[in-house]
Amino acid sequence: MKRLIVETGTKVYPILIAADVLSNAEHFREFVSQKKVVILTNKNVHDLYGSILRQSLKSSGVSSLSVIEIGDGEKHKNIDTLSFVYEQLSQARADRQTILFAFGGGIVGDIGGFAAATYMRGIPYIQVPTTLLAQIDSSIGGKTGINHTAGKNMVGAFKHPLAVFSDIKVLASLPKRELSAGIAEAIKSALIADSSFFSWLEENVSPICSLSSTHLSELIYRTCKIKKNIVEQDEFEETGLRGLLNFGHNIGHAVESISNYESFLHGEAVAIGMCAEAYLSNRLGSLNKEDVSRIGKAIASFGLPRTLPDWSVDKYIALLKMDKKNINEKLCFTLLDSVGSARLRFVEESTIRSLLSEYISEYKVS
Ligand code: NAD
Ligand code: MG
Repeated sequence: MKRLIVETGTKVYPILIAADVLSNAEHFREFVSQKKVVILTNKNVHDLYGSILRQSLKSSGVSSLSVIEIGDGEKHKNIDTLSFVYEQLSQARADRQTILFAFGGGIVGDIGGFAAATYMRGIPYIQVPTTLLAQIDSSIGGKTGINHTAGKNMVGAFKHPLAVFSDIKVLASLPKRELSAGIAEAIKSALIADSSFFSWLEENVSPICSLSSTHLSELIYRTCKIKKNIVEQDEFEETGLRGLLNFGHNIGHAVESISNYESFLHGEAVAIGMCAEAYLSNRLGSLNKEDVSRIGKAIASFGLPRTLPDWSVDKYIALLKMDKKNINEKLCFTLLDSVGSARLRFVEESTIRSLLSEYISEYKVS
């Protein structure tokens, strides 16, 4: 079992990573004994693993247990679902001592965290992430929220969980594409902060893809550690440090948005974004050409896409201009200085425009 402690200015909480976390009542006892517990999940995750978690919670001495199921998919991460969760919490007579378990992928985690931040002005919650992306990214750092017609993740709050329990075994049922999408965020973390982790990823593609427990727990641990270090120094996204986690995301978000969030999973769009932003890092900074192709190779080796769709550069620029970190006409990008080291850079829109045209024509698939 691996354990990390996240220690921000406002909260200290553990992350536990192991096979069989779900079935071990002892992990939960100190948080839930004699407490009312509500599990927030979706049907998919509940059908697969709900009975194991419910059994453990019962054995760890909860005073009562109820379950709220929400719809599966990004289209349900909205205010209607949130309202439904409030109604269900109220029906279950949840109060400020009740512990909400967010049991599922990042969508359940984000909605559950936001419900916990706002229901009765805040109730405690625990993250039990069941996708790789949720285990290495969304369950840590305290960002919670929902989508709105005004934008993705537009309404939200910072709310840290009491603890994060990541069970590696549940990843066995994750669709292959979802697993790779999670790996994209691990690659990103390695690229911005830890070159030896990046080399380790390059060398361990096969055991990671065949779900070796040892390798998955190492991958989750090392990625969580990078995010934890950044979040601890910039809890509320004020110093720009958290912005480093956005490597690959400016262009990634544009790809997701232009394709209406339908053609690519988030991690796939980030993989495409990382390749393009590695190219920008070379043209605008010190990342060498060999490393640009090394990054592309690593991304492809995990079955992730690399090619930036050949849409109009105007469309890309229009979306890139919406990033709230931009200042005046300058676009804010996280660029790599080398593998394992990144910083925020402000670049003229016209420069990005011409480099993107160049990149698209150079790497176009014919
Ligand atoms: P998701 O929650 O939609 O899960 C992906 C799919 O996998 C779903 O169909 C789900 O039912 C299924 N699933 C979950 N666990 C499974 C398992 N063990 N076996 C089989 N199927 C399983 O997607 P995600 O990628 O986990 O999360 C994406 C969301 O996370 C986005 O809404 C994104 O905005 C958010 N996010 C938040 C943060 C943050 O800091 N809060 C960071 C990154 C992403
Ligand atoms: Mg991301």
